[in-house]
Amino acid sequence: MSTSGSFIKPNSREFIELIAMNMRHFFEKYNLLPKDSRALDINTLNGMIEAVGGKLIKSIDNKTYIEKTDEDAFTIYYAEIGEYGVFPYMSILHELGHAALHLKEMEIGKTLDCNGKDLRHDEAWLFARALAMPRKNFEKVAIEHLKNGCYDIMGIIRVYNEGHFQIRLRGKELNIWG
Ligand SMILES: [Zn+2]
Repeated sequence: MSTSGSFIKPNSREFIELIAMNMRHFFEKYNLLPKDSRALDINTLNGMIEAVGGKLIKSIDNKTYIEKTDEDAFTIYYAEIGEYGVFPYMSILHELGHAALHLKEMEIGKTLDCNGKDLRHDEAWLFARALAMPRKNFEKVAIEHLKNGCYDIMGIIRVYNEGHFQIRLRGKELNIWG
């Protein structure tokens, strides 16, 4: 099977939101995901990933990526310190997105080469945002942070413990702001 994304039919946004929500519900059912995003640490992520057939291992090259290890199994290697010097939990959720959306088309023993032109990269980021910042919850939090017609982005950042970039994107893709 081709490792290039160019001939693979893209997953629709609705589909990705649904897959992420289903996985979130599964994690919540087994108390694997804290209600508060600020409590999301490496042990929690480890429990989540093991529950869906994966392993989480610290990488030796300070990179974060996924390797398919068997038909339904994968390992996520993670960099302890992300690009911005903070713990890169969104990058780990991004790789989990690849596991949820793209594992079937990956080859056993291979890592996913995720370059900027590969649509699967965007799909995995959408999955990560949808899992960490569910639509209904995000809409509610946004309304709570609406003051004098402006959204208090810093306040929303504090709720999700997530960077400016992903918060902005989430609000945009949910049509909360332009
Ligand atoms: Zn990727």
